[in-house]
Order: sequence, then structure tokens, then C-alpha cells
Amino acid sequence: MSAEIRIVLVNTSHPGNIGGVARAMKNMKFSELHLVEPKKFPHIEADNRASGATDILEHAVVHETLEQAIADCHLVVGTSARGRHIPWPVVDPRELSSIVSSAGDKKIAVVFGREDRGLTNEELHLCHHHVHIPSNPDFSSLNLAAAVQVITYELRMAGLYREQAEEHKPQWGTDWDIDLAESADLERLFAHLEETLIDIDFLDPENPRQLMARLRRLYLRSVPDKVEVNILRGILTAMQKQLKD
Ligand code: SAH
Repeated sequence: MSAEIRIVLVNTSHPGNIGGVARAMKNMKFSELHLVEPKKFPHIEADNRASGATDILEHAVVHETLEQAIADCHLVVGTSARGRHIPWPVVDPRELSSIVSSAGDKKIAVVFGREDRGLTNEELHLCHHHVHIPSNPDFSSLNLAAAVQVITYELRMAGLYREQAEEHKPQWGTDWDIDLAESADLERLFAHLEETLIDIDFLDPENPRQLMARLRRLYLRSVPDKVEVNILRGILTAMQKQLKD
């Protein structure tokens, strides 16, 4: 189960930014947009900047207060371009993604502030965590839609990694079609290989160096199955037969 993530924009001044946020969200496969007291919405500039993500704008939920927008959320995260007076748990977007990954099917709100002043201290104090994108300390404030893009990208990456980890079991997992070779099979292969390498004068039994250890390491690294070991032994047998003929 994955978390339900909503993006909350507080008191946005420029409708174009709301459209930019919708676009950034849809690019990263997010759809839940909540707006607290937007100055101008709906607005043609929002639609224009959304360029195709207007469905997100149409379904956007408008609230009068931030408290209302987050009332049913289990985890609330506020974003901030700079440090505040009272220290609060601050994470970067990647750390936020790992918190969200372990949150199960909870409802999570990521709250973004005004273009000119960000979020007030009171608004930030409604949040469990604060997220800061580690930007240039001398020029730390990103455009609103750009900040949403960075954070939703990290959330998406964490989701993709999680899916991949679930899909790609290791090759020695239960979905492998043939039984893996047992240690005794492998030992027979290595003995056979050593014998053949001596037969073809590749391995000098008086001066074997690390050859067999290196070959063992090479084969063991691939965790071969029984059929693969049989093929390798078949090749060795064929080589020995050629030598005798
Ligand atoms: N001048 C404001 C910046 C507002 S930028 C201030 O100092 O707070 C508008 C919004 O974009 C911010 O409220 C925040 O939600 C987001 N944002 C911009 N830069 C950010 C950063 N470096 N880290 C996290 N959020 C950021």
C-alpha cells in the first residue's frame, strides 16, 4: 500500500504558478491539489500554465483555512526556503521520501507557502516535519512550481524504487525456473575443470598459482543452476574426448 499524497498551496498570488504546480504534479503522477485561499482561481493563466494538466485544476479542492485543508491528514509536512526561529525537525526531499515510503497507506499533506512570504510560523507549527530543498544559502528561494517539482520528483523516485524492489526478486529467489546447483555439483564441476585445464596444458599442477581460486570466484559469482553446470561439464567432456581422439 502506498501513501495518498496531497499538495497544498497556501494563499498563492499568481494563478500561473497554480497551473505550473498542476503540470509539475501530473508529470510526476500526482493528482490531489488543495488550495487555501488562492488570490485568483480559477483563472485563464492557471489553465495556460497547466498545459494539459487542467484536469488537476478542475478537481482542485479550495479551502478557507490551512487547518481545513489538512484536517484528515496523518502526516503534515511544511516546506520552507529558510530557517525559522524555533528549530523544528527539518528533512531534505529525499529524507521526506523515505519517511513517506515507510508511512504505509496514510494520508500525507505537503504544504507550500506564498510566493513572497512563504508560510507563517503559525502555519509551519501545524506541521510534523519541515522540508527544505538544500538550495544556495545566498539564493535559497525556488519558484513555487519548481519547489513542487523537486519534491514530487523525489517522492516519485522513492515510489519507483519501491516497486522495482518488489518486482525484481533476486535470481536465486523462488521464481527461478531450474533448481540451483548444489555445492556438490559445483565441486564436481571445479574438479572436472581443473582436470581439463591440466589436460590442455593451461594449468601447470606444479605451479597452479591462484587460477582455480579465481575461476571458482568467477563461476560462484553467477550462482549457476543445475542445467548450466551440466552444460559446462558437457563442454569439458567434449574437449577431453577431442584430446583422446
Ligand atoms: N520568500 C519566501 C519564499 C517563498 S517561495 C520565504 O522566504 O519563505 C514559495 C514557496 O516555495 C515556499 O513557501 C516553499 O513552499 C517553496 N520553496 C521555495 N524554495 C524552497 C526551498 N529551498 N525549500 C523548500 N521549499 C521551498
